Amino acid sequence: MQKAGEHDPSGYFLIEDAFYNDLRDPSAIDYSKPVFDWLRNSKDEALKKWECIINGELQQKQKAILGTVSTSHLPHFRAFDMHTTWFRDLRFRLGAAYLYCHQGDCKHTIVIRDMRLIHQEDMQNRAAYPIVIFQLKPRTQKCSVCRIYRAKKVAVDNKWAQENPCYFCDYCYSLLHSVDGIPPYENCSVYDYLHD
Ligand SMILES: [Zn+2]
Ligand SMILES: [Zn+2]
Repeated sequence: MQKAGEHDPSGYFLIEDAFYNDLRDPSAIDYSKPVFDWLRNSKDEALKKWECIINGELQQKQKAILGTVSTSHLPHFRAFDMHTTWFRDLRFRLGAAYLYCHQGDCKHTIVIRDMRLIHQEDMQNRAAYPIVIFQLKPRTQKCSVCRIYRAKKVAVDNKWAQENPCYFCDYCYSLLHSVDGIPPYENCSVYDYLHD
């Protein structure tokens, strides 16, 4: 995104009823603001949605049995700056799905799976935390043509290619496309490829 000039440093974590906005970068914007505006200006709609989320199924059963539905209340959402919040200040439930949103509307589910007391063999220096203990290796595609070299370009909707999207190493790409970097014809897009 940085390369494409579309990088946005803004983001937030939504944990229980609190937004933790990433405002470290001076150009970052408060993503939670439009949500709060919506909660304020469209209270009925928000409440309806909240009820559907919380007790959609239960509510239908209640309706069938009692003919009435108990009304729930919207949580009292709050917003904090992420960079001034400590992990120890978070209130969370193990196994609950929380949200990380960044780059406009790229959303990731976050789950705190387990929790334990510090062990003798753990790093004792507080400043060293958080510690990464697992990192998914990025997957890289091989060239779809020679199947030997790493792909450097990916073509979408290329009628000359055998697959869609089709991956090319630099050499195979140059064999098929006479003018480097220029798509072979309209409606075909070629992008630089780094990894999946
Ligand atoms: Zn993302
Ligand atoms: Zn190749």
